[in-house]
Amino acid sequence: MNVLIAEDDAPSRLMLQSLLNKWGYTVTAVSDGNDAWRILCDPEHPYLVILDWIMPGIEGIEIVRRLRLQEEGNPHYVIIMTSGTGANSPALALDAGADDFIAKPFNHAELQARVNVGCRITHLHERLAEKLRKLEAASDTISRLARTDELTGLHNRRSFNECFSLALSSARRHGHPLSLISIDLDHFKDVNDTLGHSIGDLVLKEFSDLLKELVRVEDIACRWGGEEFIILLPNTPREAAGTLAERIRSAFEQRSHVSSPLVVTASFGVAQLYNGDDEDSLIRRVDNALYTAKREGRNRVVFS
Ligand code: GH3
Ligand code: MG
Ligand code: MG
Ligand code: MG
Repeated sequence: MNVLIAEDDAPSRLMLQSLLNKWGYTVTAVSDGNDAWRILCDPEHPYLVILDWIMPGIEGIEIVRRLRLQEEGNPHYVIIMTSGTGANSPALALDAGADDFIAKPFNHAELQARVNVGCRITHLHERLAEKLRKLEAASDTISRLARTDELTGLHNRRSFNECFSLALSSARRHGHPLSLISIDLDHFKDVNDTLGHSIGDLVLKEFSDLLKELVRVEDIACRWGGEEFIILLPNTPREAAGTLAERIRSAFEQRSHVSSPLVVTASFGVAQLYNGDDEDSLIRRVDNALYTAKREGRNRVVFS
């Protein structure tokens, strides 16, 4: 482990350095507080630190105070050394944020034991920080998975509902238009029955890829369940939503399905948020438009 030593007295510094080397530590040694602070501001600096209290530049105790103020994540282990004999010295050093205090002249075995404690705790901090990083990454993954549909990679219903509530209140607050497109693949049971469920899955993925390709980043394309999808379009009036629905409809119809020799189509309902709408009434209206599209022959876009 690398240890930073800041000590202005050259013989003391050399002795400290050779003792620490003998005990198996590598050492970065400086003779004043400004140099010590510069090193501590470097991203790759040592976390086990031995500071003389009184030295030119920034005093040891001030360095600890600064360290504790700006420290985030991995904490440093700081031992303050001084030849000062004031009765308050240990308490002052510890109150300023030091982890330990040793008076000069020091007993070698005692210093070694105290540095070893610092080394143990510094390792512990490193392991904890590493575990924390892994936990945070795992938690990011879990929250992403909890919001994603496994088969298609689109938003799932939970994620849609969260986004829908936020988008609705934002649209109301700012008086911006908001639209929904509800989609159901046509005669999809026939696709499964004719070609098998796994080809059906491929068609669902193809359709989802098309949605990802055609919607804007701020739109939320969601697999509502089965072969049903819904798209949330913030800042979008119904005409623009209808244009997008038509573009998706015709692209899906025309796409030569690599996965399926059948031409699969989809039906669309489009609705815009009106005054007096809440989440349920808007969903009901867009679904009614979709049922109308089914009734009128499928493979079409119907406005609410
Ligand atoms: P309509 O045009 O009236 O919507 O007819 P449809 O056959 O699409 O409607 P229906 O509700 O009768 O059938 C939906 C089909 O979607 C049946 C179901 O097996 C299939 N399906 C739902 N989820 C999945 C899935 O994850 N994978 C596959 N392959 N098929 C699915
Ligand atoms: Mg000194
Ligand atoms: Mg359906
Ligand atoms: Mg269907």
